[in-house]
Amino acid sequence: MDGPHMADLLLETTDLDIIGVLRRQSNPNTVNYAHLIKNPRFKIISADITDPVSINRLVQEHKPEYFFNFCAQSHVAESWIAPVMTFEVNAMGVLYCLEAIRLYCPQCRFYSAGTSEQFSEPIYLPMDELHQQSSKSPYGSSKIAASHLVNTYRKSYNLYAIHGILFNHESERRAESFLPRKISIGVARISKEITGGEVPVPISVGNIHAKRDWSYAPDFCRGIWLMMNQELYREDLKAEEYQQESYSKEAICKLREYVLASGSTHSVKDLISLAFSAAGHEIAWQGEELNEKAFVGNNCVVEINKEFYRPADVIYLHGTSEKIERELGWKAQVGFEELVRRMVKHDLKKIN
Ligand code: GDP
Repeated sequence: MDGPHMADLLLETTDLDIIGVLRRQSNPNTVNYAHLIKNPRFKIISADITDPVSINRLVQEHKPEYFFNFCAQSHVAESWIAPVMTFEVNAMGVLYCLEAIRLYCPQCRFYSAGTSEQFSEPIYLPMDELHQQSSKSPYGSSKIAASHLVNTYRKSYNLYAIHGILFNHESERRAESFLPRKISIGVARISKEITGGEVPVPISVGNIHAKRDWSYAPDFCRGIWLMMNQELYREDLKAEEYQQESYSKEAICKLREYVLASGSTHSVKDLISLAFSAAGHEIAWQGEELNEKAFVGNNCVVEINKEFYRPADVIYLHGTSEKIERELGWKAQVGFEELVRRMVKHDLKKIN
């Protein structure tokens, strides 16, 4: 989701050429980048983040100015099922990127995608850049490891490497395994079933009481771009002169890793109600805990299924982007209601 949104932003607002990196798959899913393929400034090349040979080759051959690492095993629930692969991709993968940049292209600016799952236990709210890190899943642990690696490499080798923290972010391109897209696709299907006079098949979900701070992914891409272009120039050097030098320790010390968040928090239950409402259905909740259900008229449209509960869930996430707003002028354009409305509208259109 994030890679193609970032490519869209950079193709539109800069003159950079973009290389999209894909792991080879026999049946690739091209849906999120099909619209980019004909653009002469965009190309796809093959590499695998778990293979340092391929990452070294990538950096050595292309000498990128910027490297955005959106590659991840990013599904929290899956990280209990495949913890070793999750760590290989999310932590070791970052290490391979950092090593490749250190060896072959130390001027390259590296962005590592951090996550609010690194703030699994709220110490204070809203959570900011100084919030203590802790994890409740192999996914969160792998991202904390990545964050330490990025910090270590930045300080050891003066690399422009940052691990900015992204709270939950979604878009019409989100995979269905994540809650908001599962809901928008489910709501579209149920709307069609109801309109067609069928008895709808309910959407099965897990913990509906968890709270998340949800934003729109393209807004975050603008924030990441700002993080990647922080003013580092020494006062006695012109920008062009500076670019020819390695980053100095003083310059690198000025780099900041920011939090991107909406500043508001909503429960999974709120999101589900809002999504149905965006499709013109007001739902009523009945029952408690595993027996809690949502109805449209007499039709059950949401039910709880234990299968979607996690061994441990982060219960409450609420972040603040006050620092990047103040220091770099970032501002979100799409709020929570509009985000849900856009996703539902997109899936309604797709299904009809
Ligand atoms: P996450 O916050 O990065 O794990 O993003 P998700 O979209 O996968 O999950 C958001 C929240 O929704 C978590 O608290 C999940 O436990 C909760 N949730 C409840 N039911 C479901 C479900 O059916 N699928 C997913 N993915 N999450 C669910």
